[in-house]
Amino acid sequence: MSHTTDTPLLPNFLAGRWQTGHGRGSTLLDPVLGTPLVRVDNTGLDLAEGFAFARDQGGNALRAMSYGQRAAMLGEVVKVLQANRDAYYDIATRNCGTVKNDSAVDIDGGIFTLGYYARQGEALGDATCLLDGDRIRMGKDPVFQTQHVLLPTRGVALFINAFNFPSWGLWEKAAPALLSGVPVIVKPATATAWLTQRMVEDVVKAGVLPNGALSVVCGSSAGLMDQLQPFDVVSFTGSAETARLIRSHPAVAGASVRCNIEADSLNSALLDPAATDGSEAFNLLVKEVVREMTVKSGQKCTAIRRIFVPRALYAATAAAMSTRLARTTVGNPRNESVRMGALVSREQHDGVLAGIAHLKTEAEVLHDGAAVGLVDADAAVAACVAPVLLGSQDPVKAKVLHEVEVFGPVATLMPYDSEEQAFELIRRGEGSLVASVYSEDPAFIARAAAELADSHGRVHAISPDVAASQTGHGNVMPMSLHGGPGRAGGGEELGGLRALGFYHRRSAVQASSAALDALARTGVAFKP
Ligand code: NAP
Repeated sequence: MSHTTDTPLLPNFLAGRWQTGHGRGSTLLDPVLGTPLVRVDNTGLDLAEGFAFARDQGGNALRAMSYGQRAAMLGEVVKVLQANRDAYYDIATRNCGTVKNDSAVDIDGGIFTLGYYARQGEALGDATCLLDGDRIRMGKDPVFQTQHVLLPTRGVALFINAFNFPSWGLWEKAAPALLSGVPVIVKPATATAWLTQRMVEDVVKAGVLPNGALSVVCGSSAGLMDQLQPFDVVSFTGSAETARLIRSHPAVAGASVRCNIEADSLNSALLDPAATDGSEAFNLLVKEVVREMTVKSGQKCTAIRRIFVPRALYAATAAAMSTRLARTTVGNPRNESVRMGALVSREQHDGVLAGIAHLKTEAEVLHDGAAVGLVDADAAVAACVAPVLLGSQDPVKAKVLHEVEVFGPVATLMPYDSEEQAFELIRRGEGSLVASVYSEDPAFIARAAAELADSHGRVHAISPDVAASQTGHGNVMPMSLHGGPGRAGGGEELGGLRALGFYHRRSAVQASSAALDALARTGVAFKP
């Protein structure tokens, strides 16, 4: 990223005050026009002071409130964000290069998630602790029992976020953290930090949160992990490479700082072996895959990367998808005729092209939208990549196709010869966020779910009866679990009130019935 000192420098909010870094910082660019927008920097900030302030001031204030009060506070945050939506859409167009529908996934998706937790939290009322399960007798005499309780950790939650969701990525984590009573420090990915910074600024200025409950540090990640102490938690979203560094940091490896990792993933779509060309399941698969490839230019951790169809349908699927993909106009999101905007940066553009070249060592090109050209954008400047559908007739032999995540509008079609082989091939992703299944047969869907659930955070089944109501393969809904085992990072987020678990500590209180009665009067049953 280049450095231009005449571009506005965004302040950080840390230790309860606005602070600008003392360095030149990094310049955020418009990925379509290549023009500089704002700079971010945190050089010279006293991180230790900021973390201590959040822990003490923010944490104490939040823990003094009940779940119901904190839920009401989230409701106030929703109102602030809704009042400023236009500004967020403008920033998204300029800094993320997204068309309106794609900006909505990030902006309105974040606001929706906050609203969901505000409603869920309201039901917890004036409790200040969560009662986990029933009391358990410890011996013959029933007077001495165990009650498991969950209490908010007395630390700070550090979020290190990915570039693709500057809004949703903040709020899907902050909603359960703040509802739990744990203060948040967010470090957005540099390329798209502006939207995160602006949302935090609006919320802080509105005064709807206690001071220290929400802080933002933009720019370099240097030194942030070093601040973490045993009762803090860190939640990371990003690449597998950076995830390795987070996991091996002494705070995590040595001080048991709780760590949640959401990393990359080779998500799959699977068509029922009984499907035929033009059947309902076939059409649903084609439609969903094309949508997933193009929403946010394929920059979704949940996007479909591998498509498995019965061998007899390989050519028909390729043809049907190509026809639909050809309708995707790519270019400047300010032009009404454009369906798909840019990737977030020229670096990502180059990375995606290199990734496609890598996949092509094992795959043929079934569709490449590049030939059509860009709308209102200069191909030498804009970070735009047209959708590319690849295909391989030999997925068993393929290696790269099951290993390399290309973070753009790219997917690979592969045929399978038996149901068992299809499940095996999907599992070659070594743990993914989501697999979707397209079928008219409930029994096949049930078998697929049983075969795939252990290696996927979510199994999304699309049958004709739910075609209109299904929420989308790649859409992360707050009531469902998000995360995945193995390569996907091994993390768990959302899933309704399950998300509160990460920000609480479970303890077994062993005491008399009278003492447990007194404790129970401060609590509410935890039923996620
Ligand atoms: P990234 O390069 O790993 O960066 C992620 C975050 O880590 C950024 O904020 C980055 O800051 C920071 N970072 C970089 N080096 C660090 C270090 N040594 N210590 C601490 N933090 C460091 O990932 P990305 O390119 O932004 O995101 C794309 C990837 O994220 C894709 O692979 C995608 O699949 C994955 N993703 C996963 C999910 C999920 O929920 N599973 C969601 C979205 C994205 P800078 O930006 O300042 O470098």
